[in-house]
Amino acid sequence: MSLRAKLLLAQAPLALALLLVGVVAVNTLGRVGHAGQDILADNYRSVLAMQRIIEHLERLDSASLFLVAGERQRGLEQAREHLRPLEAELTVQEGNITEPGETEATARLRRAWTRYRTGYEAFASGERAESRRAAYFEVLAPAFREAKAATQALLALNQDAMVRKSDALERQSRRMNTLMVMAVGVALVGGLLASVSLTQRALRPVSVLSQAVRRLGQGDLATRAVVRGQDEIAQLARDFNAMAEALQRYRRSSLGELLQAQASSQASIDSLPDPVVVFGVEGGVLNVNRAAEEVLRLLVEGGSGALGQVVPEVREVLERVRAHVLGGKGPYLPRGYEEAVRVEGGEGGRWLLPRGSPVYGEGGGVVGATVLLQDVTRLRRFDELKNDLVATVAHEFRTPLTSLRMAIHLCAEGVAGPITEKQADLLYAAREDCERLQGIVDDLLDLSRLQSGRVELEVRPVSTEAVLEAALAPHRVAAEERGVRLSREQAPGLERVEADPDRLQLVLSNLVANAVRHTSRGGEVVVRARQEEERVRFEVADTGEGIAPEHQQRIFEKFYRVPGAGTGGAGLGLSIAQEIVQAHGGEMGLSSEPGVGSTFWFTLPRTRAPEGDASAPAFER
Ligand code: ADP
Repeated sequence: MSLRAKLLLAQAPLALALLLVGVVAVNTLGRVGHAGQDILADNYRSVLAMQRIIEHLERLDSASLFLVAGERQRGLEQAREHLRPLEAELTVQEGNITEPGETEATARLRRAWTRYRTGYEAFASGERAESRRAAYFEVLAPAFREAKAATQALLALNQDAMVRKSDALERQSRRMNTLMVMAVGVALVGGLLASVSLTQRALRPVSVLSQAVRRLGQGDLATRAVVRGQDEIAQLARDFNAMAEALQRYRRSSLGELLQAQASSQASIDSLPDPVVVFGVEGGVLNVNRAAEEVLRLLVEGGSGALGQVVPEVREVLERVRAHVLGGKGPYLPRGYEEAVRVEGGEGGRWLLPRGSPVYGEGGGVVGATVLLQDVTRLRRFDELKNDLVATVAHEFRTPLTSLRMAIHLCAEGVAGPITEKQADLLYAAREDCERLQGIVDDLLDLSRLQSGRVELEVRPVSTEAVLEAALAPHRVAAEERGVRLSREQAPGLERVEADPDRLQLVLSNLVANAVRHTSRGGEVVVRARQEEERVRFEVADTGEGIAPEHQQRIFEKFYRVPGAGTGGAGLGLSIAQEIVQAHGGEMGLSSEPGVGSTFWFTLPRTRAPEGDASAPAFER
């Protein structure tokens, strides 16, 4: 049954009650009406007849008196006028006997009337006035009185009956009234209760469905709406159940896939031998691998304060890399092994080198950071060995190289005897190579000293202009030869900087030399110095060939040279420059675009130790 039919059916009891009340009301009214009519038909008719009979009797009596008085004609006429109607009224009364005792009373009237009638016939036909008078008083007058008395008795009988019946009718109608009120009340209450109950029954599935929807909304996907039947709500419930089923299936499958994906990603990071820490966008630790648990003693259960479990040095590194990546600066790549941090464990501790990469969300924004602490203990040892070896070799080269240079110089100058022009050319070439070799050996020794922290900086206030000019001067000839414009820009208010002047000049000179070397004719090299908050920033900008992004990260490594970039040094210049800048407590970097040019920059802290204590050990590495 459809919902519409059910709701209509629910109204049926009320309608039925109304119908019942209507029928009872019509019936009652009918009964009261009939009772009234009965009174009219039964008694009122008789009352009327009796009244008329009395009137006719009296007229007949006066007609008889006319005859007695000698007014024969008038008397006969009047009597004729009333005889028949009286007879007719009496017949009506005889046909309308309704009350007990009425039959006898009517028979009495009939008898009296017959006597009167018979007496009248004799009286009227009497010729003599004397006999008429006697007949009137002896027969007619008593018959008249008898008939009138019988008529009045009948009249009273019917009037009494009317009063009695109307009283009964009134009582009955009062009873009916009460009955009607009760019937209306019962029908209304009954109909209303039945209608409400039926409506509730019809709408109960709606509340079942709405409860199921609410539970589903609260996440209970196992909920179902149990509604039987074939109506629209049952259909809706079936559709709802199908939807909940599909949702549950989807959640089961997506949850399964999610768990699988999580397990496999956990397995893959666990398989890495190096510690991995995954940070959320708020900076809390979301996940770690087994190596991180073992090496760093870091557990995810620590929540937002998880980093408090690890040693301060490692924590500082993790926080720095996390800030870099979550700050939207892209992946974090270490500049060299010197960034490795030492943790206890194993033989002589481990050296861990941090790398960070962003985790991107669906919208492309950074939603987390992964930090990998690469175990570089062995590599670092190799690096140290290499540095030691290079330093030793460079050191060992120095003395023989000096005597070699001296010998070549003496030979070239003819001190050891005359030489031919050809021999002189060869010796000059050898001397030039020796000079280059000497330069490389000096660079290597410098670098190894810087790296080992054995260099003491002589920091003092120096004229910015003097430093910039001193850095440019040695390259003016080369720049002119190559057709490259050299210039400097110095921000006002920066007359002095605090640095080791020789070292600062070396850094700038290296950068200018590179810039001139890698800029073609018509290009420009500008050296700038300006203040930037608490730092002084130097820039060497050129309009040269630029450096491809894949080389930019490695350019500060020792011996690293961009492949195919033409002749130059041994790839040590930028490493030395960076070491010197870092020894000053500064930073170095570059921005470059192939074909457009490069800008190498470095910053130095603005104020250093007070004057007179320029070479404070604080600046040693
Ligand atoms: P080198 O002494 O061999 O120049 P550097 O460490 O100074 O070594 O430089 C490393 C490499 O960086 C060079 O081989 C060169 O290819 C590249 N390079 C340095 N400066 C620039 C520059 N201004 N423009 C283009 N390439 C440069």
